[in-house]
Amino acid sequence: MPRYIFITGGVVSSLGKGLGAAALAALLQARGYKVRLRKLDPYLNVDPGTMSPTQHGEVFVTDDGAETDLDLGHYERFTGVHAKRSDNVTTGRIYSDVLAKERRGDYLGATIQVIPHVTDAIKEFVKANHDDEDFILCEIGGTVGDIESLPFLEAIRQLGNELGRELTCFLHVTLLPYIAAAGELKTKPTQHSVKELQSVGIQPDILLCRTEHPLSDEQRGKIGLFCNIRQSAVILGMDVRNIYEVPLSYHEQGLDREVMRHFGLPDKTPELSAWQRICNTVANPEGEVTIAIVGKYTSLQDSYKSLGEALVHGGIANGVKVNIEWIDSELFEQEDAAIEALHHVSGILVPGGFGERGSEGKIRAVRFAREQKIPYFGICFGMQMAVLETARNLADLPGAGSSEFGATDVPLVGLMTEWTDGNERLQRSADDDLGGTMRLGAYACLLEEGSVAGRVYGATEIAERHRHRYEVNIAYRDQLEAAGMKISGLSPDGRLPEIVERPDHPFFIAVQFHPELKSKPTDPHPLFTGFVAASMEKSRLV
Ligand code: GLN
Repeated sequence: MPRYIFITGGVVSSLGKGLGAAALAALLQARGYKVRLRKLDPYLNVDPGTMSPTQHGEVFVTDDGAETDLDLGHYERFTGVHAKRSDNVTTGRIYSDVLAKERRGDYLGATIQVIPHVTDAIKEFVKANHDDEDFILCEIGGTVGDIESLPFLEAIRQLGNELGRELTCFLHVTLLPYIAAAGELKTKPTQHSVKELQSVGIQPDILLCRTEHPLSDEQRGKIGLFCNIRQSAVILGMDVRNIYEVPLSYHEQGLDREVMRHFGLPDKTPELSAWQRICNTVANPEGEVTIAIVGKYTSLQDSYKSLGEALVHGGIANGVKVNIEWIDSELFEQEDAAIEALHHVSGILVPGGFGERGSEGKIRAVRFAREQKIPYFGICFGMQMAVLETARNLADLPGAGSSEFGATDVPLVGLMTEWTDGNERLQRSADDDLGGTMRLGAYACLLEEGSVAGRVYGATEIAERHRHRYEVNIAYRDQLEAAGMKISGLSPDGRLPEIVERPDHPFFIAVQFHPELKSKPTDPHPLFTGFVAASMEKSRLV
């Protein structure tokens, strides 16, 4: 039977609850425990797949093809444990399952109610699909006091009761605001937030208080007193310079020790050398390199969360700091000279994206990278745009387009209606729902020997995660190759181009999948390591 740690948040949103949960899981791993992280999201969408990236941030895709909350990305990056579909649920998903059961008649005539039917479904979700983990860390999205998170809080309250204190721990993350005029950290919002939690029957065992300033013993005592918590269980979550310092910082503040104490487990010294190494490398880079990300959702960097992190990892692998310039691709459409801004960067990356708006600007950025011999890395949409650029400007196919943007004479990028996943044949049509119908999750890809992709990966077969509806049309392979673009990665059935590259360029590689989703600080993704290395080379040449 695993032990459960439930993580709630109070006072304000964006406190880094997900990061805190991920860091705690990493600390438990460093003590030799097996962990899994889960997220319960109170919103009504069935999953975040159809939500705008600029509203909700990145959609993180798991190996088994679930579209999930971006916190699952933090979980994977900090623990290396691959998330599964069963690690993220929303109110929408819970309700749609409950309602489907009701329609089937599974409830035998009962009146369906939030308590017990919805709360039971939440509890079942939390307790299912375990794999002999020692700890399940379960983060509740939103902020305590939100109407929509109530069923989740009620479900975890019941679990605490059913499983007992020896198997459950409630960790509440709050904020201690600093009032500059008074020169003081304020504890009142934390007290109120704990009261709110107590009013639904949950007494937190540990408080993680986010703050920019250290806390006096007196204030710590006061929080403990008013919140009914042991003083040593009031942990400070100080702001750190980079997120990979969080495990070390929370360990210093005693977070994992307090969890051990709560469960009556021995307080062994965790093995933290890997985190120390990462932090040292990030704090003492041997150089810097500037990379432009030319995308459409640049107003909210959370839309490209894993991408930004994967570039940091590529920097770690090369011992350098990566500076990212976020550029809205539409700028290149509005003003011809705008493209000149790319002259001073050492690498250009066009990330995943959807829809026609901004696509011409991305194609211009690809062209600039190709002509100026600036390292180029295209991801998903960034590969589709790279292929269109070669087709239009070098392969004498000026009408080349993507059917994502409407009817086109030369459908170089087209809607995929049928493909294979292992032995399974999957089918889609243009009239399908938008939610959950893309090519999603991990698919195998065969690499051509002697290609840049093959060299970078050091392998001939890889598996990477996908999230897209359109594919580069293999029928144009000969024209593309004649124009200097090689298809160096293909699906095992040879029908779907997965990687393209330009052998005449110092580093020009574009992939149909999302390698950023699998990169970790402890294990940087080879494509990001290779791209940053090539960008370093470029910056040396300038
Ligand atoms: N819009 C493109 C497609 O659906 C690319 C998606 C992406 O970049 N993730 O195929």
